[in-house]
Amino acid sequence: MKQPTTWDGWASRVSLFAREGKKLLDLPRFPIRIEEFAEGYSRQLFPGDPITMIDSRDFGGKFEGALVPNVAKDEWAIIYDHGHTSRGRINFTLAHEFGHYLIHRRLSGDPFYCSRRQMMEWDSKYSQMEAEANSFAAFVLMPPDDFREQTKNFQKPTLRDFEILRDRYEVSLTAAVLNWLKSTSVRAMLVVGRDGFIDWSWSSSTLYNSGVYFSARKVTIALPEQSLAALGPTCGITSQQHPKGVWNDDTAVFESVVFAEHHGMTLSLLIYG
Ligand SMILES: [Zn+2]
Repeated sequence: MKQPTTWDGWASRVSLFAREGKKLLDLPRFPIRIEEFAEGYSRQLFPGDPITMIDSRDFGGKFEGALVPNVAKDEWAIIYDHGHTSRGRINFTLAHEFGHYLIHRRLSGDPFYCSRRQMMEWDSKYSQMEAEANSFAAFVLMPPDDFREQTKNFQKPTLRDFEILRDRYEVSLTAAVLNWLKSTSVRAMLVVGRDGFIDWSWSSSTLYNSGVYFSARKVTIALPEQSLAALGPTCGITSQQHPKGVWNDDTAVFESVVFAEHHGMTLSLLIYG
């Protein structure tokens, strides 16, 4: 069979393989765990340079995952960072690296070392290969048909709704939210805070196109004083409708928050009026 040449071609192929495989084994469709089939799949399709190891290593938080030659030059290994306790983050990282293996290993010629920031790059302007690996991972782990069905009533979702999706698909909470923001027509934004400041944010296209976003990479922006993210976990509230002037001067904003998915971090999901 002819091999796909694009990320979405590979994503459809692998997604179908995973679905049919589960059916044959009479297993529930989700979660799809990359570790269970990546080696066998690569051996079947590419006996000349298969993946022969999936393992963890201490990257000291510097990298989230890597695709590197394994011992012999004609074998590959997928490595993920030791420090993770979240199965969802590991599964998403493995899918990202599996994407690099299928789509990019022959284009690049170099090993791939992927940072946490690159796992968040779903914007092809920054780095096309990273964006493609993330799109591949999202498509395979959260197939569009099922994801649409699960989110069809999301007019004013909270992060609690996304925690349910995170568990269904075994992905990180951030990946589940970003996957929704990519396709929704709701005016919404994810804001990741660190130590009282906005670390980075992502707007849905309808919100972005109306000019609402934070350029937190260019300038330092503090979390708004009255935001739940700034008030911290001790205030005991996890979602709130804010009036104008808290997150945005012109618009009331509904915020839901999760504290410390990773140390010292906050996630705020903002739904704009
Ligand atoms: Zn990568």
